[in-house]
Amino acid sequence: MLKGKTALVTGASRGIGRETAIKLAALGAVVMINYNGSKEQAEEVKDEIEKRGGRAVLCQCDVSDYAACEACIQEIIKQQGGLDILVNNAGITRDSLLMRMSEEDFDAVLSTNLKGAFHTIRFAMRQMLKQRSGRIVNISSVAGVTGNIGQANYAAAKAGLIGLTKTVAREAASRGITVNAVAPGFIETDMTAGLPERVREGAAAQIPLGCFGRPEHVAAAVAFLVSKEAEYITGQVLHVDGGMVM
Ligand code: NDP
Repeated sequence: MLKGKTALVTGASRGIGRETAIKLAALGAVVMINYNGSKEQAEEVKDEIEKRGGRAVLCQCDVSDYAACEACIQEIIKQQGGLDILVNNAGITRDSLLMRMSEEDFDAVLSTNLKGAFHTIRFAMRQMLKQRSGRIVNISSVAGVTGNIGQANYAAAKAGLIGLTKTVAREAASRGITVNAVAPGFIETDMTAGLPERVREGAAAQIPLGCFGRPEHVAAAVAFLVSKEAEYITGQVLHVDGGMVM
């Protein structure tokens, strides 16, 4: 149970972040729904949480913007009196083969998917260190473990998130803060909706459990890692990928 806890989920307007926000709220946390552009969808997530008896607050902020993250997290701490759980889920893709990848596309993905997590951790951890407790979960990807054709930027950012996770786990452990990563495989969201049928079939063929996962599968892993039961787990990468990488 997460009663009395405040959780910030970045990129919670859609997909995995949406489901994670709903799950943490169902377990009793007050959930800060971060989004960048999808205000209506974020409002829908808030309504859904409230309909189920939970509590949620919207917080718009582009995670790639250092100053905006600082302002957003300071406001949360002022409003809620603390911050216990941070889920770095916001992410984008700008796929192309490396030889065709523009510098702009490389930088955009690194700024959101990797630097965004640095920003939020930087400001959330200040509070968690004072509280001498906290839970941080970074949503990486199997692409960050194995690499993936057409995703040099994305795989580099997701591998970077794993390095960030392990480093912060070491730095924060003595203060009762755990830091872990979740590495999803193919999950049914807007991010994978555009994949051509041929690619989907090829991907599914590489998954021992035989199909794409759902956002709830990732949300359940996050809920475990932020729970009391997971207090002795830190610096780990939990794969939620139907056995794709083992
Ligand atoms: P979606 O594209 O469905 O949702 C992405 C979310 O990230 C949206 O809520 C979006 O908000 C938010 N976001 C994007 N850029 C920013 C930004 N600069 N600041 C704040 N929020 C932002 O993605 P998924 O749910 O599929 O993916 C969620 C995470 O899981 C990502 O990190 C992704 O890399 C990772 N992942 C996904 C996999 C999959 O198969 N789906 C597999 C492995 C990892 P808005 O719309 O408001 O801009």
